[in-house]
Amino acid sequence: MSARQVPEPHFIRADDDVRFFSELPKPELHLHLDGSLDPALALELARTRRVDAPTDWAGMRAALVAPERCVDQADLLRAFDLPIALLQDAEALERVADGVVRAKAAENVRYMELRWGPHLHTAKGLTQAEVIAAVARGASAAAAAVNVEVRLIVTALRSHSVEENRALAVAAVEAQDRGVVAFDLAGREAAFPDPLTFKEAFDVARSGGLAITLHAGEWGGAAQVRRALEVGPARIAHGAVAADDASLCDELIARGVVLDLCPSSNVQAAIVPGYGDFPILALQRRGVRVTLNTDDLIVSDLTLSEEYTRVRRRLGATVTELLALARTGYESAFLGEGERRRLLEGFDAWVDRRVSR
Ligand SMILES: [Zn+2]
Repeated sequence: MSARQVPEPHFIRADDDVRFFSELPKPELHLHLDGSLDPALALELARTRRVDAPTDWAGMRAALVAPERCVDQADLLRAFDLPIALLQDAEALERVADGVVRAKAAENVRYMELRWGPHLHTAKGLTQAEVIAAVARGASAAAAAVNVEVRLIVTALRSHSVEENRALAVAAVEAQDRGVVAFDLAGREAAFPDPLTFKEAFDVARSGGLAITLHAGEWGGAAQVRRALEVGPARIAHGAVAADDASLCDELIARGVVLDLCPSSNVQAAIVPGYGDFPILALQRRGVRVTLNTDDLIVSDLTLSEEYTRVRRRLGATVTELLALARTGYESAFLGEGERRRLLEGFDAWVDRRVSR
């Protein structure tokens, strides 16, 4: 287990915890590119691509941030319609990737896996491979300029056809030299509940050398998380509702499957009644491997540092528990052992300097 006992830091000023989690070298494993479009870039893209959208920064920002409380997951996903309309050419994709990598590095995210659905960006003629190449160019150029390690996750959509998602898996496998490390499934879960519909795409991705992850439990409760296990994932995006099912928790532990959790996003999507009900600590204390993430920078109007502070302040997590969440993130990253060890050593050294004696 990853928890290293460290003394609780002695915070004096009321915002000392904010500063601590802002400076902590964090991993983020569950982050969507199209949910992280900077309003200023969105304004420029709307103007130059002639997309119908708000024309001032505040209006654009309000359009990109989803309501604090949506009806359900499908309602939350409507916030992605505008970014997807704006991101239909290579330059736009390159720039949004560059921007999100820089924004994350600026809040001391030191390792990030950036995911998105390439097929959503083919409406104006780009191929899936061209979309992947454009995002990879933007992400790697930014990563080289700032202090962050970036990997890419290609996301299939539940609403897309079996053929489209299979072709996407092929394109993802072929893009491993561009930083693609995993294949994911996301989208409207109530309308398209069965991930095994895309078994062939998952098989192509797995046999081609990619790690497997998928979104689950944003609708339909613990049964949907159990269903997600049928495609053999290493990690599940969300899946917090597993906390309601003791035998499912045991199975996640036995299989070593990690849940990449996003409390604020799940509150927005009305998956839990309120932040105080989010079971991240219950899952962690039970022994389920969990990580802490935002899901989306702009759709949830949230930095990862803020999410750490929320888990401390609203759920009462100790600093030791939060550091264990971060360490599990590095341990669960879709990385080779040498790269993982280097990141973990940097993280542990920071903790030793700041917390331990
Ligand atoms: Zn997600």
